[in-house]
Amino acid sequence: ATTFSGKRVALFGLGGSGIATAHALAAGGAEVVAFDDNPESVSRATGQGVPTGNLRSTDWATLSSFVLSPGVPLTHPKPHWTVELARAAGVEVIGDIELFARERAASAADAPFIAITGTNGKSTTTALTAHILASAGRDAQMGGNIGRAVMTLDPPAPGRVYVVECSSYQIDLAPSIDPTAGVLLNLTPDHLDRHGTMQHYAEIKERLVAGSGTAIVGVDDSWCAQIADRLERTGKPVLRISKRLALTDGLFAEGPVLKLAKAGRIKAIASLEGIGSLRGQHNAQNALAAVAACLTVGLRAEEIQKGLSSFPGLVHRMEQVGRAGRVLFVNDSKATNAEAAAPALSSFERIYWIAGGLPKEGGIEPLRGLFPRIARAYLIGEAAPAFAATLGEDAPFEISGTLEAAVRHAAEDASRDDAGEAVVLLSPACASFDQFKNFEVRGEAFRAAVQALEGIQPIGG
Ligand code: ADP
Repeated sequence: ATTFSGKRVALFGLGGSGIATAHALAAGGAEVVAFDDNPESVSRATGQGVPTGNLRSTDWATLSSFVLSPGVPLTHPKPHWTVELARAAGVEVIGDIELFARERAASAADAPFIAITGTNGKSTTTALTAHILASAGRDAQMGGNIGRAVMTLDPPAPGRVYVVECSSYQIDLAPSIDPTAGVLLNLTPDHLDRHGTMQHYAEIKERLVAGSGTAIVGVDDSWCAQIADRLERTGKPVLRISKRLALTDGLFAEGPVLKLAKAGRIKAIASLEGIGSLRGQHNAQNALAAVAACLTVGLRAEEIQKGLSSFPGLVHRMEQVGRAGRVLFVNDSKATNAEAAAPALSSFERIYWIAGGLPKEGGIEPLRGLFPRIARAYLIGEAAPAFAATLGEDAPFEISGTLEAAVRHAAEDASRDDAGEAVVLLSPACASFDQFKNFEVRGEAFRAAVQALEGIQPIGG
């Protein structure tokens, strides 16, 4: 990290990506003082050659920058004192994406940088964009909030493209972020605990697209639509995307076909027809964003179609894990609350729904409008009685208790359904901790239970 050469930089947070960031800074000639309030993390980092020191006894006047590691919140009570000390001494507080942006700006090699944010769909869009680029032969370097820490990505070089998922928190700590293409997918109230008001949350997200060469903005919600208009008035190139409206200028979905409207002409770019990993309205938005980003960095329509068609999807997010005749098995273990389960329930019909776990406030009441799609529910974990009460007369259910029993019973019932495609869907609308270590372990248990059934053709995995 040569932009910090000769400077003294403090770093807080010595997890894996903090250690990587400290190494990158030191390799570029910075004098690093790395710290963590967990002594075990400090000794592990020291063992890996990271220069550590106590930030409580450091003279902050000698520091040029203070880097908070990815995953350490600004408002976390533990490092809070460090942020206070930095601010009092006039030392800038930044994150690893800021380091990455400065390094890239200082590099002679022109490697495009696609940055992706939004309330929902960030990881899917990031993974899809990187997949399309890689399938077109580009060296796609994917990182940030998904995959590798940005400071561990390969340095800028011809043919290389960066695809980086950014949380609001990371954007907040990256004042000079300047992606070639910045994507803002959508904005809905979320994480307001951390950012205070919707206004403030939207302002942080807007900064990413305001700093980009081309601003790709989903205009299906009013917050983002206003941001697109505002950016355009300042002269910023804006590429609007919509999964709902036929735009006169922008990229939109008409059924499964993604079309580009520009200067009075409309051109079909790609189709999502038959792509299982991109099923559902929400994925149309993610696909439009990925296609817009790939067009911006010069990919051709044929290359884009090839990448879309071969996208395997993300694990635990509406992931198709197997098929038995007309029955499809879908793992959506990541859906840990009702809102997150809604897209999967909206994407299928004849659903044999496995739900439950550790209940969240509000339960499944927000999903009531989707109950007609439920052929039968199989309830597990602590939430089962409450979910049963909400389903009441509106959808048939059983209390299965365990995930294994739920999979067996759901598979059996679905195999007798001859009304068309039936789906055994794990989309629990609950946290997993009453029965599993985390949602990943729950998703793997679902996959294993499905694969243990007779006559299963595995998909992916
Ligand atoms: P993020 O990285 O922003 O959390 P993911 O791509 O991991 O988003 O998707 C998480 C869940 O959010 C999905 O399982 C789905 O339920 C929902 N989702 C995905 N994309 C969208 C979208 N564009 N709009 C609304 N909800 C979405």
